[in-house]
Amino acid sequence: EAAMNAAAHKELMGSRNSFPELPMVNYTSQYGIGCFEGLKAFPQKDGSLKLFRPDLNALRFRESMEGLKMPGFPEEKFLAAVREIVKRNENLGFRPEYQNEWEKDNFLHANSIYIRPFSWTEGGIGLNLSSHPYVVIITTPVGSYFDPDASSKAITTDRVRATDHGTGWIKCNANYVIPTLAKKEAMAQGYMEAIFLDYKEQKYIEEGSSCNAFFLLKDGSLVTPALENRILNGINRRSVMQLAKDEGVKVEERRISIDEVLSEAVECFVTGTAAGVSYIESVTHQGKTAVFNNGKIGEFTANMLHTLKGIQYGAEKDRHGWMFEV
Ligand code: PMP
Repeated sequence: EAAMNAAAHKELMGSRNSFPELPMVNYTSQYGIGCFEGLKAFPQKDGSLKLFRPDLNALRFRESMEGLKMPGFPEEKFLAAVREIVKRNENLGFRPEYQNEWEKDNFLHANSIYIRPFSWTEGGIGLNLSSHPYVVIITTPVGSYFDPDASSKAITTDRVRATDHGTGWIKCNANYVIPTLAKKEAMAQGYMEAIFLDYKEQKYIEEGSSCNAFFLLKDGSLVTPALENRILNGINRRSVMQLAKDEGVKVEERRISIDEVLSEAVECFVTGTAAGVSYIESVTHQGKTAVFNNGKIGEFTANMLHTLKGIQYGAEKDRHGWMFEV
């Protein structure tokens, strides 16, 4: 791919610039034109590795590229390349370091292999779009995303990560500038995560810096904010919604205001490939704090965590066919 693209770029540069020797500009680093994915391969008891729902990452990657007006990377190529890179790195290994039985049961420190496909494009010095993107995939072993010994408190931010007609629904590089700042600000105040509210009214929950939010309410229903073309359509979000429905829980995708969270929520957690299912002990908004389940992981959240991780590590039956052989 890269060799083909390099030739195409040369052609493009030659036709656009009177000085073809001028260096090409990496649009991705200059203008934020790029997108990425994050997915994981999980070690199984028999020593093999299995990918969690890579078909959905392949689809979202294509849609992100198309959303950025680049040619979409074909899904079958994505899957083949991901499999290949995992195979070549399968010795990255499984090194569980459990502190106690609960962590062991919940695979809390179990390693997995994180896979990060991303695109970048190059072209002339001006603002433009290249029709010849490169796709690169890197991989690394990872443990838990949130420090299990640190606070799991969240705080709302008044920064805005997505607006209507923007790129919030795309896994686009530029989207991560504001969340990175908001997360840093939250952490500087002793919180684990920043929660974004809608940009119009600063009233309704949107998502975390790189995770989706869930609230179990007093009436037993599970609520997650509706996508509304601004929130990333998380693969773990969809998976947890399915697992909750399997348990007979009423699941609602709708607007949920911060006031409703402060008065009605009994459990809160965030989901994501990196975050898995991570419980949130409290949410603070403009000086008001709601503490959930006395700051401990709630029964429902623990059940979702256990079930999802169980499927991923092969301890539970893969009842929905989510795990793909490498
Ligand atoms: N929202 C944002 C902004 C994210 O970056 C992520 C991580 N990809 C998520 C939600 C969770 O998505 P997923 O479950 O597909 O990892």
